[in-house]
Amino acid sequence: MAHIQVVNLCHAITTVDRNEEQTGMFYWPADDKGIYTAKSTYSRLCMGLTRSPTAGGIWRSWAPLRCKIFAWLTVQYRLWTSDRRARHGLQDAPSPCFTCLQEEDNVDHILTQCPYAREVWHQCFEVLQINIQPPIQTDTFTDWWLDKRRNFTGKTKRGFDSFVIATAWSLWKQRNARVFHQCTSIGLHRSR
Ligand SMILES: [Zn+2]
Repeated sequence: MAHIQVVNLCHAITTVDRNEEQTGMFYWPADDKGIYTAKSTYSRLCMGLTRSPTAGGIWRSWAPLRCKIFAWLTVQYRLWTSDRRARHGLQDAPSPCFTCLQEEDNVDHILTQCPYAREVWHQCFEVLQINIQPPIQTDTFTDWWLDKRRNFTGKTKRGFDSFVIATAWSLWKQRNARVFHQCTSIGLHRSR
């Protein structure tokens, strides 16, 4: 295999027209100035890929990195909620919501559809005096977020994104406290 690569390399080198009077120089084709940068390499690698509509909101937010990673997993439905655990054979069937015990424990229910979650969003908007409609029972987290962030621009948009991620993170931590510590009251466990 290595032999074939050497042959191919020799062929590539020997078939290039060289100007003996010109000194050789390194040129990086992915960059306008011909200079290698990690950014230009990454851009080249990502050519043709579709950018997720939530990518900017997540990675440009002011949320801590672990919250950004949480949000990134959330919008891809990769949190280990009970519906996902059931799909992966880790439990027989999805569990009911650990807060309201009414609907299935899944990402959209925990973060937007559960009556408790909707009340949290409502209270937060009241305290912050932001005139935004909290999610309703049929909203999915990502669609609701993308829709509401259209009301903001610039730094206020980054602020809104950070707020959404932080609130979702808190809802997730509380849900986990109920699952793993059997908490029935809110705020018994501080987020670490
Ligand atoms: Zn619920």
